[in-house]
Amino acid sequence: MNLVIFGPPGAGKGTQSKFIVKKFNLFQLSTGEFLRKEIRDKSELGLKIASIVNSGHLVSDDVVSKLIENIISKDEYKNRIIFDGYPRNIDQAKNLSNLLKKYNQKIDVVLKLSVNLETIKKRISGRSTCSICGKIYNDFYNPPPQNTDCCSSKFLQKRGDDTLSVATKRFETYEKTTEPLLEYYNQLNLLKVVNGENPIDQIYKEISEIIALIEGWLCNITPYKYAFKTYTQ
Ligand code: AMP
Repeated sequence: MNLVIFGPPGAGKGTQSKFIVKKFNLFQLSTGEFLRKEIRDKSELGLKIASIVNSGHLVSDDVVSKLIENIISKDEYKNRIIFDGYPRNIDQAKNLSNLLKKYNQKIDVVLKLSVNLETIKKRISGRSTCSICGKIYNDFYNPPPQNTDCCSSKFLQKRGDDTLSVATKRFETYEKTTEPLLEYYNQLNLLKVVNGENPIDQIYKEISEIIALIEGWLCNITPYKYAFKTYTQ
């Protein structure tokens, strides 16, 4: 199965994707992470996009399209991709559907994590990532462990775009260009909304149940128990 995980910056897309990847043997295609790696490596592309990413704007559709085709086209990732951070506008959504078609695939579900702006500000300002293992922490909700080799403060990194002012810009970009995609996917009957304000474990459980249902793992379970909220405007 291929799924799109959707939501404003700081909604928990990365955190949840990392859990789901392990449980369902999927591949997380985070366009943001790919772009940040280019920036860290100071590649030609990285140097070109650094100021765009660090100011909270979107990089060009062409750049991200090449990046995702590179993954979609590989047999090892076929039908096991979580799109995290792509698509972010209608053109990207259409491009994704065309690319998947080209490689005989499709999107099976679009999960939206809904979170309000106040929570987002807290999540983004408290967020750090372990540069060794990639685990994501938050000073307010999920503080990093003390006295460990991995994940100790010397290995924790903050993202260049995780400041309050850039987070607000990213949220505005999300509302203006990305949020309209919800209706697009709702029309295609692909959208499931999960409350991203809930504790991490609970969100993970809900998402796991949605995926398991689609994968047919829970085919004997009474359907009404799993009547998840679908999107309404
Ligand atoms: P994220 O890690 O998803 O929050 O993305 C971080 C930043 O990378 C965004 O603010 C954009 O500058 C850039 N980016 C990530 N995905 C895309 C995309 N699909 N289209 C354009 N820019 C993107």
